[in-house]
Amino acid sequence: MSYQVPRGTQDILPNEISKWHRLEELIRQFTYVYNYQEIRTPIFEHTNVFKRGNDSSDMVNKEMYTFQLENSSTSLTLRPEGTAGVARAFVEHKMYGYADLPMKMYYVGPQCRHERPQKGRMRIFNQFGVEVIGAKSPLLDVETIALGWSFISALGLKDMKVLINTLGDDASRAAYREALKEHFKNDIDHMCTDCKRRYEQNPLRILDCKIDHDLDVMKQVPKMADYLNEESKTYFEQVLEGLDALGIPYEVDDKLVRGLDYYTHTVFEVVSVNKEMGAQSTVFAGGRYDGLVEYFGGPEGMSGIGWAMGLERLLIALEAEGISLVDEDSLDVYVLCLSPKASTTVLQVVTQLRAAGYRTDTDYLNRSMKAQFKTVDRKHAKVAIMIGEQDLESGSAAVKNIETKEKTEVAFDSIVEAIDAMFGEAEEEHTCTCGEEHCTCQKEQ
Ligand code: ATP
Ligand code: MG
Repeated sequence: MSYQVPRGTQDILPNEISKWHRLEELIRQFTYVYNYQEIRTPIFEHTNVFKRGNDSSDMVNKEMYTFQLENSSTSLTLRPEGTAGVARAFVEHKMYGYADLPMKMYYVGPQCRHERPQKGRMRIFNQFGVEVIGAKSPLLDVETIALGWSFISALGLKDMKVLINTLGDDASRAAYREALKEHFKNDIDHMCTDCKRRYEQNPLRILDCKIDHDLDVMKQVPKMADYLNEESKTYFEQVLEGLDALGIPYEVDDKLVRGLDYYTHTVFEVVSVNKEMGAQSTVFAGGRYDGLVEYFGGPEGMSGIGWAMGLERLLIALEAEGISLVDEDSLDVYVLCLSPKASTTVLQVVTQLRAAGYRTDTDYLNRSMKAQFKTVDRKHAKVAIMIGEQDLESGSAAVKNIETKEKTEVAFDSIVEAIDAMFGEAEEEHTCTCGEEHCTCQKEQ
């Protein structure tokens, strides 16, 4: 028997974690300035939170990890997406009664879907998502897209495109649905089993089919735009005007439908057009939804807008564009322990330095001085402190500034001060008298 991670899942190892930390840090920064607050919902929910009515999506019908424990009649499902749990929590905690609607929320965490694993498609993957519930305004559709767009732009991604469409309001969609049924009526018998199901449940989803994609009947489908009523048209125009005003480039894609049956009005996908990206090119996607809050027992008319971003896919998009998020695995100080007898003193010095906020490490294996200096190099330590048996008598240690190669003898109880002085000097060297942190005066001189 072998012990390996299940297919479609992965370990994120310590040497890869810094890019995840960087993403998480940026997520916090962006959501902070946009004034979105984090919500954490359970990793599993009652199955009916995700499986609602006769939802036609693949995710609900084919990809859910659903289980029931022995002696229990409760069916639970590992969450495949974030929106449902957030909407359930919104109702359960009566957030609709809060004075300042809409609730602007975000989440970060794993989702589980039983799909065929391939590049950019996993069985456990991480999403960063936003949900704004309790207000319907084109400004919010624009704001959420702007948040995601500015986030990926800040990471340096350039080969990105917003594809956007509208599904209109209920009345427009009902008219379109009828038109699609009429259009596919003579061909549906020859189409895939999923499309047959979609024909009955939600014909719009047929447009999303990856199997019947190239059939003739798919080429001249009626256009949603021709079935939009005035209100829906105006709403969409306002969203596009907002994107124009913020300089966010987009392309209207009248075949874009999206998975959730609850979507109304705006739907969008932000895709990478980089050649290296592979087939899974959508980095984040979402739309406006009505009816979810009501489904969970909340008041009528509470509309929401949100999107979810696959973080593994985001990393693939970054790699495709040659953008590296990895910061150097570096140490401030490495304390060389040159004799087992010195280990207690080393422990004390290391602890003092850590308490003062310096990223510090030492040797635990009685390795030779040469081997320990190799670690100093590998970890790009800025300072090396050498403590051996004879230093215990003198009560001081050699402190070496790796960059300047300067070596000074420092009493044990003054080591933190000496390091403070070294790091302080390094900072001063980079600060101009103008007081600006990142000034360009010196470069201009
Ligand atoms: P797709 O059409 O690629 O299956 P989807 O419509 O199922 O996507 P959503 O449910 O909208 O995707 O999820 C939003 C984002 O989450 C996707 O754009 C993608 O970046 C990411 N994502 C979805 N499924 C996976 C997966 N299995 N593995 C990795 N990332 C995923
Ligand atoms: Mg999918």
